[in-house]
Amino acid sequence: IIRAVGLRKAFGNLEVLKGIDLEVAQGEVLCILGPSGSGKSTLLRCINHLEVPYGGYVWVDGQIIGYDLQGGVLHELPVKRLRAQQSQLGMVFQHFNLFAHRTVLGNVIEGPMVVRGLSRPAATARAMDLLEMVGLADKAGSWPAQLSGGQKQRVAIARALAMEPQVMLFDEPTSALDPELVGEVLEVMRRLADTGTTMIIVTHEIGFARDVADRVVVMIDGEIRETGPARKVLANPADPRVRSFLGRVL
Ligand code: ATP
Ligand code: MG
Repeated sequence: IIRAVGLRKAFGNLEVLKGIDLEVAQGEVLCILGPSGSGKSTLLRCINHLEVPYGGYVWVDGQIIGYDLQGGVLHELPVKRLRAQQSQLGMVFQHFNLFAHRTVLGNVIEGPMVVRGLSRPAATARAMDLLEMVGLADKAGSWPAQLSGGQKQRVAIARALAMEPQVMLFDEPTSALDPELVGEVLEVMRRLADTGTTMIIVTHEIGFARDVADRVVVMIDGEIRETGPARKVLANPADPRVRSFLGRVL
């Protein structure tokens, strides 16, 4: 459902993505591992076109993200159509990014009402189902500031799911959390995986990757150095730099 071919991104002289090829199938759970600065966040941001790569393209469900092919020529999409494309990709960040001036429920219904034109009752009904799913139905009327980090992150997941994306992208969703709150967020993600949600997850939670990922990718210095079934890559990496990285984090 996602295909990235030859993605290249630089910030000034710094080559951050050096030609990334990646495919993710419908229903697949892919975990991306790698040292700090290896380009993991940049890869996610290029996949959803928050960053524009200088080389390569990403297809989401057969459409090139950010561009329109007309008469054999690629044209940049107008912002409105880009936003519509991006809404196929739900994104959850390290730092929740909830709207502070909206209640929990307000956070979840905002996108569906504004971007997808759902009525308030329809958006609310769906939002309450999602809040139920992440275990926060009783917090619908609370403000983000009244929630723990783990609760905020579960709201952020519900908010992303409310747009009914084809794929969920997670960028270190638990790394800003106190250790005792990590489990509740991973539990929600595990449940999503079980229900067949396609997910790309940047994480340092190796145990989670081993249990839940269908496949892992290890990025080092802007390149994919190793990819394969989680157990195989984690237990027996072929690439020496991957072995040394995993040796440090396992
Ligand atoms: P971490 O595990 O610490 O989150 P990462 O693998 O997600 O790391 P990226 O955030 O993708 O790494 O960053 C890759 C490199 O690109 C880093 O050297 C970073 O400093 C640089 N970089 C990222 N975003 C920008 C930007 N907007 N401007 C300049 N440099 C950037
Ligand atoms: Mg990052």
